[in-house]
Amino acid sequence: MRVKKHRKLLLIIIGVTMAATMAITLAIFNNIGKKNYEMRGFVDENGNKQSSSVVVPTVPEEDPNDPSTIPVPTIPASDLPGGNCTSGLKNLSVINANYRVDENYINARANQLVDITELYGITEANSWNGTPLLDAEAAQHLNDMIKAYEEAYPGHIMQTMSCFRKVGTSCGRLCAATGTSEHHSGYTCDLIDTYYGATLDTDYYDNHKDWQWLKANSYKFGFIDRYPEEWAGGSMYEPVNVNENGSTGYFETWHYRYVGITEATEIATGKYNNGKYDSLEHYLKQRKFLNDLRAGTCN
Ligand SMILES: [Zn+2]
Repeated sequence: MRVKKHRKLLLIIIGVTMAATMAITLAIFNNIGKKNYEMRGFVDENGNKQSSSVVVPTVPEEDPNDPSTIPVPTIPASDLPGGNCTSGLKNLSVINANYRVDENYINARANQLVDITELYGITEANSWNGTPLLDAEAAQHLNDMIKAYEEAYPGHIMQTMSCFRKVGTSCGRLCAATGTSEHHSGYTCDLIDTYYGATLDTDYYDNHKDWQWLKANSYKFGFIDRYPEEWAGGSMYEPVNVNENGSTGYFETWHYRYVGITEATEIATGKYNNGKYDSLEHYLKQRKFLNDLRAGTCN
């Protein structure tokens, strides 16, 4: 009898303890739930608390003048052999004296390009250069740009003066050696309207309405003036100077490079260069893709 009575008491105590534990646990959870609910809530325009199931993380807004607000981007791996650390950036990739590519890259790249004479009827002014080859996306935008130019100047024809090149030329500062020329990228063409003369010479800039038009309008089509004078890094009689500040080493008023409309607009309007025309090297360094422009390294 006594044992039974004790067992009954024990069961009651266990029962009460369990019920109390459950009640406390529920109360705690309820409270946490409430807290979460309150944290996720927002106040509407009438001052009433509303709930929201999505917690929006606060990302600091990017300020082009404050490098600490610019996140370090990830550069995708390149799908081609023999490239450099920027090759995975494709239309933003860099080829210069410090960011070189080898022949494996150049040969593989040639196989990815389209014939723009065949596709769009864009002709090459110098038959020695062969058929003009370009990246498919760049080619489409080049076609739009040339159409817009020819509409602005009826009767004029814009031609290429070499787009993709397998071999570089070593003739001093005007020509880049094999492995260092942007003409290996498949995103570049030298452009000319032979009405103004077929010589590629910066001294003729004032007489070339085509080059002036390109400088003012190309960014709308995703192209940039790749080698403006202010980024040449010295006179054309000095050795090529691709320095840590983003100088390109060249001054070529006819050399246009496809980067995409968003990036071309940011470069042309100087988003990362106090409102002044940017260089691709400087732009990519400010955006933290590139690290040491002299060593040819990426972040
Ligand atoms: Zn060129």
